[in-house]
Amino acid sequence: MTKKRDYYEVLGVGRNASPEEIKKAYRMLAIKYHPDKNPDNPAAEEKFKEISEAYEVLSDPDKRRIYDQYGHQGLEGRMSGGSGFGGINVEDIFNDIFSGGSPFESFFGGGRRSGGSTTSVRKGTNLRIKLKLSLQEIAEGVEKKIKVKRQVTCRACNGNGSKNGTSLRTCSSCNGTGQIRKVMNTMLGQMISSSTCPTCNGEGKIVQDPCNICYGEGRVLEDETISVKIPAGVAEGMQLSVSGKGNVPPRGGLAGDLLIVIEEEKHEELHRQGKNILYDLYISFPDAVLGTEVEIPTLSGKTKIKIEPGTQSGKFIRLKGKGLKDLDSYERGDQLVRINVWTPQQITKSEKEMLEKLNSSKNFKPNPDKSTKSWYEKMKEFFQ
Ligand SMILES: [Zn+2]
Ligand SMILES: [Zn+2]
Repeated sequence: MTKKRDYYEVLGVGRNASPEEIKKAYRMLAIKYHPDKNPDNPAAEEKFKEISEAYEVLSDPDKRRIYDQYGHQGLEGRMSGGSGFGGINVEDIFNDIFSGGSPFESFFGGGRRSGGSTTSVRKGTNLRIKLKLSLQEIAEGVEKKIKVKRQVTCRACNGNGSKNGTSLRTCSSCNGTGQIRKVMNTMLGQMISSSTCPTCNGEGKIVQDPCNICYGEGRVLEDETISVKIPAGVAEGMQLSVSGKGNVPPRGGLAGDLLIVIEEEKHEELHRQGKNILYDLYISFPDAVLGTEVEIPTLSGKTKIKIEPGTQSGKFIRLKGKGLKDLDSYERGDQLVRINVWTPQQITKSEKEMLEKLNSSKNFKPNPDKSTKSWYEKMKEFFQ
């Protein structure tokens, strides 16, 4: 891996550059090194990636602050681009993916191309998949291999859709602008309307001799297995994005993203409440009176807890740190065990006699301690 250049140096701006200056510098460089303007030029493509990454950081006040303070290292794992698993951007979990987080989108208008213009970056469509995870997987974080079918750049023609590298012909219907302009003379003067060129579908160029692998599309559908690291503590409905693992648009451009929507499988015994885990434990009446030790499930396997003699039904036992990791911090939730004393639903005649005998003892008369907190107070306390 080569050493990363300083982002300010990449954009050619000073450390105190204003957001406007940064935007201006990026715009100029983006136009200059744009892949559409530099076809088959890997050096320009590299440069374009570099300036885009620099802009992604310096245009975001939070990322810029982190970068200023800690440099490239501080941003590790926070970048949406890049290789391996920097791909998952935890911030994206909370930001709507479509609100335009990427510099291209904010720059070029929603990632949509405006036909023929030199500043347009075409971005392919996003892929969206659902991923079911068990509570255990969520608790520990997990690496998943996900199989997707995605449109990738055709290797035979390098994505331009033409056989043997023949060049594209400029569309004669629109003169390469991708737009058809109509001028109408009306009583109010000239009216100009423009619409997408039907001959070239707004691309401004026409494939003369189509590639026989992709038939001129410049892309082919392929199966790909993508390894995704799911951070611990995700929840139902959260969306993770792996940048650049969506579809490539026809005849070149940036790949869309792979969006992973988390689905949480219900656990048989443990109930999740945010970062905390709730568990209902049932013990027998004699155990409640005499005390015992029981084994209960937790996210990290079985554990033993002690039931004190004279335990009341409804008592809570808190197992510190036995909950889930918080996504934003290093904190861990707890597991809360609610004790329920099991009341038998069927008894024999002799058991009935025994109970009747016990019932006459004053020890069996309810005598709750008034200072004990009620269950709803305890619940409130627990969730604070
Ligand atoms: Zn091809
Ligand atoms: Zn055209």
